[in-house]
Amino acid sequence: MEISLAGRRALVTGAGKGIGRELVKALRKVGAQVIALSRSSEDLQSLAKECPGVETICVDLGDWSATEAALKSIGPVDLLVNNAAIAIIEPFLEVTQESFDKSFAVNVRAAILVSQIVARQMIERGVGGSIVNVSSQASQAAIQNHAVYCSTKGGLDMLTKVMALELGPKKIRVNCVNPTVVMTAMGRANWSDPQKAESMLSRIPIGRFAEVEDVVNSILFLLSDKSGMTTGACLPVDGGYLVS
Ligand code: NAP
Repeated sequence: MEISLAGRRALVTGAGKGIGRELVKALRKVGAQVIALSRSSEDLQSLAKECPGVETICVDLGDWSATEAALKSIGPVDLLVNNAAIAIIEPFLEVTQESFDKSFAVNVRAAILVSQIVARQMIERGVGGSIVNVSSQASQAAIQNHAVYCSTKGGLDMLTKVMALELGPKKIRVNCVNPTVVMTAMGRANWSDPQKAESMLSRIPIGRFAEVEDVVNSILFLLSDKSGMTTGACLPVDGGYLVS
């Protein structure tokens, strides 16, 4: 199956590092025009050098009004990937208002705002579109010290379903991908300890963590017309972790 996104314009959040950065490159390969949004300007500069033609937007998605202002003149967008997130790992009894607010602002609230901006103009233009939210296996399974992160991803799964329900009649599909551990900066920060990693690996029937490419391929499928009848789905990219 060949996926082409030629003629489509895609916005990827959290595009400076990890999954978002590789997704930008993959989208270029399948012919899409790409707008890369992230927080650190040096990441965006190096990405623009690596992938000439990629447009960049530097903004902190935790800041609602700055994000609104940064996306004001974004122009037509056909495909959106809400990928940016933070993971603050702490025991439940030590969760603070600050970590809760910071996490929900980026992992859930920004996905709402950016999707509203994009979906409104898709509707105005009378075209359909596809939105993919990058969730996690942590949305559906409890993981030690992940109370806030799990809650944000659970919220994102349900947000995906409500968006699918309300935006479907406007020809906008909304799905999410739910990866297991991926050894990006985020993955390394939380799963480099071999004992901790082994406890997770032993529960993944396929016996390995996900590669960035596994996640990127699933996102490309959900963005493309090849998944034209799929909306409101949470696609595990977890090697079977969630089956038990
Ligand atoms: P990553 O390597 O930490 O990259 C995250 C990217 O998002 C960075 O470029 C970061 O920019 C950007 N970002 C974070 N907060 C932002 C903000 N407030 N405004 C704008 N950009 C912001 O993470 P990743 O592993 O690629 O994760 C991508 C997605 O996959 C996330 O939604 C994550 O929850 C999900 N996921 C990851 C794993 C895993 O094990 N890695 C597993 C399941 C799901 P800065 O570095 O400049 O802050």
